[in-house]
Amino acid sequence: MFSPSWLPPKDFELLRWLFVPGGGYGFVLVGLALLELLIPQNRRRWTRASLLSGAYLLMAGKLGIYTVAVTPLIRKLWLYFNLPSAHLDRILPLPLYMLVTVLVATFLGYWAHVGLHRIPLLWHIHKIHHSPRNLNCGSVYHKHFLELILHTPAALIASLALGTDLVAPFGIIFILIDFVGHSNVKLNFGKLSYVISTPQVHRIHHSREPRHYDRNFGNQFMIWDHVFGTFCDDVENPPTGLLEEIPESFVKQQILPLAWIARDMGRRVSGLFTSAETPRNRRGESRGSGC
Ligand SMILES: [Zn+2]
Ligand SMILES: [Zn+2]
Repeated sequence: MFSPSWLPPKDFELLRWLFVPGGGYGFVLVGLALLELLIPQNRRRWTRASLLSGAYLLMAGKLGIYTVAVTPLIRKLWLYFNLPSAHLDRILPLPLYMLVTVLVATFLGYWAHVGLHRIPLLWHIHKIHHSPRNLNCGSVYHKHFLELILHTPAALIASLALGTDLVAPFGIIFILIDFVGHSNVKLNFGKLSYVISTPQVHRIHHSREPRHYDRNFGNQFMIWDHVFGTFCDDVENPPTGLLEEIPESFVKQQILPLAWIARDMGRRVSGLFTSAETPRNRRGESRGSGC
């Protein structure tokens, strides 16, 4: 089922177990879900929102097939058209190669996430990820299908341009940190929150309070938030979600962003790309300044 070109290189055999469906990957999710039951940050009942989280997990599971199919295809096209690569793996010693890969990958991830918030067209799509008020480890996949579908090719093209096979093993570590960051567990990660995206700092990114808007863009490591001044470590447990009401319906959440984009296009095509204001800010709420 898996193409050899898609699996991690041999140096990272230990991480292969994470790829086995229902294996390590599943254990991590089940383990986090159990912790959410035992030591939840917010105790809540099963509601329509819980079912919606489940629907998004199902969609992400199905999209796994898309990832398996599209990844070798993009690799082959890259080679077929002889597209350029920096070949970091050949020009750098292994420790430096790993460090540069993490720095570049997280740098690109940081600015991609900033773009999702600042470019109105993209915010319409990313807004769905910010809609849950019941943040949990499965919320990693609570995204509009366009965001999920575009992520794989974007990450792969970046790795091919850099010339690094580390994207697969690092990708797994990145996803695991993302699961933990979204989880509804009452664990104090202490100073670790300065380095990685723990529930404490990622919850602030999802906070409903305007003073937390546009903070903590790092989905795994917080380094670029420190560099660009967007880090916030308020030690509290803010409510998550958006101030505006987004219907708790899977179908509506997939259709509405397309309707918002069509509406904006009808108004002014250039407005989709040139306005620096997200819909949040258009309501008169500027970037958080309380951190
Ligand atoms: Zn975001
Ligand atoms: Zn998130």
